[in-house]
Amino acid sequence: MSYSEGHPIKLVGGRLALDFVNTADWTPEDEVAHEKLTNIADLETWLRALNLEQTEPVQDLQSLIDFRFRLRQLILKRTGDSVLNVVQSLDFSRAGSNASIPFNQSITALIAASAVSVLTDNRELKRIKMCPGNNCGWLFVDETKNGRRTWCSMESCGNRAKAARHYAKIREERL
Ligand SMILES: [Zn+2]
Repeated sequence: MSYSEGHPIKLVGGRLALDFVNTADWTPEDEVAHEKLTNIADLETWLRALNLEQTEPVQDLQSLIDFRFRLRQLILKRTGDSVLNVVQSLDFSRAGSNASIPFNQSITALIAASAVSVLTDNRELKRIKMCPGNNCGWLFVDETKNGRRTWCSMESCGNRAKAARHYAKIREERL
């Protein structure tokens, strides 16, 4: 299910750039396990949830999806790419196709600005975690005082893990 089909939109990343990479669920191999931005209507639904529906309509969803992958790899430090490289590759191609759109009105520009602020702040980078839930891979800023947040959300991955532990224990007791 995608966003426009009613998939719930959970903004748990704490930063726009992180919520953006969380528009897919990810396998441990960094492949998309579940895509929630399958078409422009999905993107519009997501933007509405962020109160960003007034940004310029995105023409090229695929390059936004490519950008999302590169951005995630960058945040997870799985690539030697630089943030400016990743950001510029997008905005230059965009400027070429439609130079009349003001930079600050494109969602890509807003995400890029958020990404730059996250990626240039070491305190911030240190607090970014990846949810260990099965095929989740969501990123979030751990803003708890003791730095012990583990899950993207307790309602989804946290509870699934708790249930899995519970059943494992029951199985053990039966053996
Ligand atoms: Zn999760």
